[in-house]
Amino acid sequence: MKKIAIYGKGGIGKSTTVSNLSAALAAKGYKVMQIGCDPKADSTRNLTGGKKIPTVLELLRDKENLVLTDLVHEGDEGVLCVEAGGPVPGVGCAGRGIITAFEKLEELDAFSVYQPDIVIYDVLGDVVCGGFAMPIRGGYAEEVYIVSSGEMMSLYAANNIASAVKMFGKRKYASLGGIILNSKNIENEEALVEQAAREIETQVVFQIPRNPLIQQAEALGKTVVSAFPDSEMAKNYEKLGNLIFN
Ligand code: ADP
Ligand code: SF4
Ligand code: MG
Repeated sequence: MKKIAIYGKGGIGKSTTVSNLSAALAAKGYKVMQIGCDPKADSTRNLTGGKKIPTVLELLRDKENLVLTDLVHEGDEGVLCVEAGGPVPGVGCAGRGIITAFEKLEELDAFSVYQPDIVIYDVLGDVVCGGFAMPIRGGYAEEVYIVSSGEMMSLYAANNIASAVKMFGKRKYASLGGIILNSKNIENEEALVEQAAREIETQVVFQIPRNPLIQQAEALGKTVVSAFPDSEMAKNYEKLGNLIFN
């Protein structure tokens, strides 16, 4: 079982990238589990026809005697979807929520029961506090990829995430796989991200172009991979999948 975490600033395109990656790997026959670790809880929406699934934290609040099928929902492409969820706004700690959700999945033996070939954590990287760093340090993910565009704030977040990975790396937790450039078509974007990658001693492993097909697929509650399987964009996610899996 391969375990990776994809981090990045809010709104940069993590969930778009992760859900297309999951769909591309599922289309190749892999069993994929995608775990959304963003209080927004919309990581898997394009794998479930645009519908939000109940989050682990909501279920823990509202239901007793949870079973695995309460938490794990099979999406249209066969991807196993989980949303950790977030605290009640204004109360509680989002990071603690992620830890609680992971503990519940472990308690119910989710990985042994489903035996996924790959688990992908989709993690908000604006604040790299103890909770949000959980996928890096708890032995959950083996490799971390950072989604960034050339925008300053997303590169700033990338820098923070890389620092956290490096710090925990000394204790043999996850290692940094590299940056996935999700283009925003800003001036000199490739050079800016390449430069930032050098500064944090990593590399740009893949570049995803900006493409309106993403929004068209999103309007259908789908990934580009499932809505437009013959498109160049779908091929890009397939290539990214090969790169990450191998
Ligand atoms: P995050 O998960 O990082 O918060 P999302 O994946 O939800 O971000 O992306 C935010 C929005 O950006 C999405 O609604 C999507 O429409 C758009 N988007 C992301 N990547 C691309 C892309 N490569 N081309 C066009 N639009 C994109
Ligand atoms: Fe929790 Fe992190 Fe927010 Fe602090 S910054 S309350 S640890 S999520
Ligand atoms: Mg997201």
